[in-house]
Amino acid sequence: MDSQIKTETEAEVIVIGGGAAGCSTAIYLARRGRRVILLEGREDRPPQLSDLHSGEVLSPGSQLELDRLGLDLNQAQSGDYLVRWKLQEWASLRLHWPGGRETFDRLPPGVAFWQINRGNFYRALRQLARAEGVQVCEGVRVINLLRDSAGRCLGVSARAAGEAPYELKAPVTVDASGRNSVVLARLGLRQPEPHFRRAAYLLFFSELAGAPEPGVWQQYWLRNTTTLRGSYLAPRLYRFSFETSLAERNRWLAKFGRLTAHELFLAALAEQLPQEARRFREATRLPHLLAFAPVGFRVAQITHDGLLMVGDASGYLDPSTGQGIEFALRLGRLAARSIEEAFAVNRFERPAFDRYLRERQDEVLPIMRRLRLFLMGSQSNRLLDVVGGVALARRAAMRQIIKTSPAIID
Ligand SMILES: Cc1cc2nc3c(=O)[nH]c(=O)nc-3n(C[C@H](O)[C@H](O)[C@H](O)COP(=O)(O)OP(=O)(O)OC[C@H]3O[C@@H](n4cnc5c(N)ncnc54)[C@H](O)[C@@H]3O)c2cc1C
Repeated sequence: MDSQIKTETEAEVIVIGGGAAGCSTAIYLARRGRRVILLEGREDRPPQLSDLHSGEVLSPGSQLELDRLGLDLNQAQSGDYLVRWKLQEWASLRLHWPGGRETFDRLPPGVAFWQINRGNFYRALRQLARAEGVQVCEGVRVINLLRDSAGRCLGVSARAAGEAPYELKAPVTVDASGRNSVVLARLGLRQPEPHFRRAAYLLFFSELAGAPEPGVWQQYWLRNTTTLRGSYLAPRLYRFSFETSLAERNRWLAKFGRLTAHELFLAALAEQLPQEARRFREATRLPHLLAFAPVGFRVAQITHDGLLMVGDASGYLDPSTGQGIEFALRLGRLAARSIEEAFAVNRFERPAFDRYLRERQDEVLPIMRRLRLFLMGSQSNRLLDVVGGVALARRAAMRQIIKTSPAIID
């Protein structure tokens, strides 16, 4: 923990989670003069390979949000991949369509996706939060919400490693603790997302025959909505994500039996893309592999008396489009604005946060709807092949993905 927790009366807002959503909310609130305490469950520790998480892609919209937030983007570039957060940019796509066609397209001039080391990215965001006056406590895990008999949120109970739990109270609590939010679990708010019951595997390699070139995103569409996506992140660092539906994953498990995630990846690839399977079998894999299932979910209610849900904790679609971080940053900005208004009238019941719901609807939901349509369309290999065969259609699809709706506030 990098700072002592002050007494409960000093915090006006408690933010659970020091990721994209939590830091964005906390920074915007601190800039407006609010006393914010941010609790991040992970301890800070020396950089290591697992900090890569899934080596996320930052959409052009995320880059705009970071600029708006005031993160120094120049600092991101220097040093080894274990110490910097921005790893590479890509602005070209090499796509392998289901029917066997291969295409190569460039994004419009000036547009690029970035790939990051997420651990370092979050360190940089927390550093900015501290500089803006947020009290950032690392290594402090929230274990429950404090609620009164009417269900109103009063704060949290939290615990630092090896210490006794304690209570922390504030008029507003923001849950930005991500997909595995303790609040979602405690309040039973998580609901299935029927169209995106997906599983994802992330693998990193240091040596791979035919590895992706710098600046190029490589993607294969396989059978039954499975995709294989690869990119170069840094010298001797290649990232591949293998995503599929839960139904297809269950079929693999039934067919191949109980295998490790890596063995399952190799077996499924050998079945679906035999011409590529060999190079992955012979590749040198780094000892960092992530497996997620299921990925998509909805949240029944995202504002409550004294409590808002932000980022993944307010629902999550699909990792395929690389916009989860963009949504998290945007929602943090919108939540901060709504919380500030609640303080202005000193009312913290659920209706005080209606503005957050309205602006979320106006600013974020249209992009989510577009992505939902895009993702549903991409579940038909026939449709994919039609799009893949027409350069204009490919460009139109890409424009939909990179389009960022304008921000409501600056
Ligand atoms: C396989 C996969 C690949 C993805 N790829 C991309 C991509 O390429 N691009 C993209 O934009 N998005 C991607 N996403 C989505 C993206 O990771 C999320 O949308 C984004 O991280 C959401 O940010 P967040 O701040 O809401 O949550 P998180 O990033 O999950 O941050 C939550 C924070 O809260 C902390 N925390 C959790 N529980 C507690 C607790 N009880 N107490 C205190 N702290 C706690 C965590 O340690 C963490 O720091 C991917 C997701 C998956 C699953």
